[in-house]
Amino acid sequence: MKKIYGAALVILIIAVISWVYISNKQSAHSDEYYMGIALDLAKHHPQLPFSAIIINDQTGEVLAEGLNESTENPILHAEIVVINNAIKNHPATDWKHATLYSTAEPCPMCQGAIIWMGIHRVVFGSSTQYLKTHGWPVIDLAATDLNHKAAFYSGVIKGGVLANKTDTLFIK
Ligand SMILES: [Zn+2]
Repeated sequence: MKKIYGAALVILIIAVISWVYISNKQSAHSDEYYMGIALDLAKHHPQLPFSAIIINDQTGEVLAEGLNESTENPILHAEIVVINNAIKNHPATDWKHATLYSTAEPCPMCQGAIIWMGIHRVVFGSSTQYLKTHGWPVIDLAATDLNHKAAFYSGVIKGGVLANKTDTLFIK
């Protein structure tokens, strides 16, 4: 009798582990998948191909999108636009469980906004150095360097995701 209970328990544990694994698989996509969404957005904006999205890490849901609107207002970089849209549409969200994807490395203004908002993870395509060498005006400070200046913040940054594709957008 004990053996039957033991076998049933093992089957139950396997079923629970499988369910957790499958449900995670359904909600979580790769960084390349989400960068692909940002990339498609940027393609609609060839003159200023800066775009950003914010996703909920736990559900995989895209919470907001943003495109560079600096022709209307010089501080409306894609990251600022997506942050404003995210707060407007999801005001009660815990941004510690969010990732911001951007076709280009956030500038100090945008990375500062990301730090103050508490978004814990940033993924970008093209680097500030790449933009600089291709004639884009940049404030020459890496986003990671800015993070290190904020002792209260422990977010992480991953660069170069789909950079082979984002880089081509920024060739003038
Ligand atoms: Zn910026």
